[in-house]
Amino acid sequence: MQQLRHAPDGCPALVLNADFRPLSYFPLSLWSWQDTLKAVFLDRVDVIAEYETEVKSPSFAMRLPSVVSLKTYVNHSRKPAFTRFNVFLRDGFACQYCGTKDKDNLTFDHFIPRSKGGKTTWQNIVTACSPCNLRKGNKMPHVVGMHPFQPPHQPNMFELNEKGRAFPPNYLHHSWHDYLYWDAELEA
Ligand SMILES: [Zn+2]
Repeated sequence: MQQLRHAPDGCPALVLNADFRPLSYFPLSLWSWQDTLKAVFLDRVDVIAEYETEVKSPSFAMRLPSVVSLKTYVNHSRKPAFTRFNVFLRDGFACQYCGTKDKDNLTFDHFIPRSKGGKTTWQNIVTACSPCNLRKGNKMPHVVGMHPFQPPHQPNMFELNEKGRAFPPNYLHHSWHDYLYWDAELEA
């Protein structure tokens, strides 16, 4: 790609799975234009929509793809990473004890306290606001009578993607809207 001197920065492509749903919603699946062109040349994706912007070399010109779809379906049943972000996402960015969505105030609670042998795992970590976290402290859930709305569990990628759809990305290229819009309509 070195000869493509006029290629712009930015111009990411929205990546759709083979079923034309975004590969992931939150974060929205985006590839750099470099990765996207590589995938086009390797015949791994179909180009669905393009930018006006072209990349040029003396022997070659091509409009940059703005939306591509994978030729092979990626299965979402694989296990997502156990990250802070993904725990928040699983729990809808809401305290699982009182329901508050005050993002600045959210933290993590060990359902079974660490002092009672509770582990830091999908099955034992829940999103909680600081006041609830403090109130529960090192006590067992049944002692304080605090039970999460949703029992802590290992989510799959599909579940996290479904949750992520509730959080629209901040920026969408205009040619991306159709795919997000239609998908939302079909699932409503
Ligand atoms: Zn709370």
